Amino acid sequence: MSVALQAKGLTKEFKGFVAVNKVDLTVEKGTIHALIGPNGAGKTTCFNLLTKFLQPTAGSITYDGRDITKMLPADIARLGMVRSFQISAVFPDLSVLQNVRVALQRRRGDSFDFWRSERELSRFDDEAQAHLDAVGLSEFTHHRAAELSYGRKRALEIATTLALDPEMLLLDEPMAGMGQEDVARTSQLIRRIAKNRTILMVEHNLKVVADLSDKITVLARGEILAEGDYATVSKSPEVVDAYIGA
Ligand code: ADP
Repeated sequence: MSVALQAKGLTKEFKGFVAVNKVDLTVEKGTIHALIGPNGAGKTTCFNLLTKFLQPTAGSITYDGRDITKMLPADIARLGMVRSFQISAVFPDLSVLQNVRVALQRRRGDSFDFWRSERELSRFDDEAQAHLDAVGLSEFTHHRAAELSYGRKRALEIATTLALDPEMLLLDEPMAGMGQEDVARTSQLIRRIAKNRTILMVEHNLKVVADLSDKITVLARGEILAEGDYATVSKSPEVVDAYIGA
């Protein structure tokens, strides 16, 4: 198996407090890899380091064999690694289709322009529609994004991410705030997306993590406690302690 994303000695200090401490992480191509751990474990900090929203205090990160340690998020997006944004990235007053068009326009390097003629923008429609079909939003094409349920807004967010044609997606708590039905739908979606892509996700829902992940890295107090498939990490006494003690 080849490596998509790799961190070595990844460390982040906030004014002397070490939030992430010498983390070595390898995400294999074509896998679903989950980052879990109790509150305060350093998951968000790690995620922000890997997506370059934070600069590490020490350590290095490579993506597809290239050193991305000093790159900006936009640069790594061009290499094919994209972070799925929080719901705020969805334009509530635009239609579902228009939201995906914006992402397609961005991928082509065009700046986003609300005033562009409908005819000019409609050249993106077939592709936008295909992304909406992929995330199960075909019926909602012409709805205002604001009208979507929470779970469907997250699906729209994934559609706009897919519009950037990523090889690797980083998902920050894709199931957060979702009811059971949305969780089931989103799990299917992630599985489908992962067929020809690599996924790294931070996720609290352990059932989802158990169902979806090929590999799990458990963090606690900024360090890796355990790594492996769900059966392996869930049996680790350190992991059980960390969750109970949290
Ligand atoms: P998790 O996502 O696993 O809950 P975080 O990465 O959010 O953990 O936080 C790990 C630790 O780092 C926590 O103790 C948190 O208080 C601390 N931390 C996170 N961000 C900052 C920051 N910007 N300044 C200071 N401390 C921070």
